[in-house]
Amino acid sequence: MFLAEPQPTPYDLRFHWLGIPIRVAPWFWLVAALLGWNLTPTGEPDGMYLLLWMSAAFVSILVHELGHALAMRFYGISSYIVLYQFGGLTVPERHAYYGGSSRGADDPLRELAITAAGPAAQLALALAIALAVYASPYRLPAVPYLEYVLPLGQGQPFASDAVTLGLFYLLLASVFWALLNLLPVYPLDGGQIVRNLLVLVQGSRGIRNSLIVSMVAGGLVAWYAFTRQQVFLGLMMALLAISSFRTLQAYTGRSGW
Ligand SMILES: [Zn+2]
Repeated sequence: MFLAEPQPTPYDLRFHWLGIPIRVAPWFWLVAALLGWNLTPTGEPDGMYLLLWMSAAFVSILVHELGHALAMRFYGISSYIVLYQFGGLTVPERHAYYGGSSRGADDPLRELAITAAGPAAQLALALAIALAVYASPYRLPAVPYLEYVLPLGQGQPFASDAVTLGLFYLLLASVFWALLNLLPVYPLDGGQIVRNLLVLVQGSRGIRNSLIVSMVAGGLVAWYAFTRQQVFLGLMMALLAISSFRTLQAYTGRSGW
C-alpha cells in the first residue's frame, strides 16, 4: 500500500511464491493482531481465533500483492513483495526496467492494469469463497454491511468453528482491504487508478485533477469515519487528504512538470 519499505530485520519471514521473493516484517503480525484481537464470536479475545484471523489477513493481503506482482510480470517487470505494518508493498525492480524514471510516467494503461490487479485479485478470492459457500449446504456469519450483497446465511453451520471463522475472516479481510484500497485517495491503489484514468483522458492535466479528487475524497471519508466513531480510519484519511493538498500545492507551484 504505502510509504517506504521497512529495513530488513533478523525476524523477517522470507520465502518465494510463484517465483516472487516475499518478505514479511515482524510489524505485520503485530498490526494484524491489533486489528483483529476482538473479532471473535463473543467479542472476547481468544488465541485460536486470533491466529486464524492473522493467517487470513496474511493470505488475503499476500493475494492482493501477488495480483500486482503477476501483472508486473505480465509486462516484463520483475518485483518483490514486502508485508509490513501498513499492509503490503509490491516493489518493481525499477532501475532495470524504468531506467530510474518514476513509475507511472510513461504508460498509464500499463500502470492502470498493474494497480487494479491487486484489489481485483483480492475481490476474486472473496468471490470464489462466497460462491463456494453459496453452492454448498453450509452457511457463514453475515459480513457487516454486505448481508444483501453476499447472502451466505442459508444452510447448516460447518461442523468446525475453525472452518467457519477461517472462511469468514478470509472473506472479511479480502472485501474490506480491497474496498479500502479502492478509495480514490493517494497513495492507495484507488488514487493511482484515478490518476491513470484521468491521464489517459486528459493528459498531464489529469495528474493535478487526481490530486484534487484525492483531497476531496480523503476529506469526505475522514468526515464520514469521524461521525461513525471510526477514529483510526478518520485520522488516516485526514492525513492522506492533507498530504494530497500539500502535493497539489507543490505540483501547481512548479511549471516544469
Ligand atoms: Zn495494492
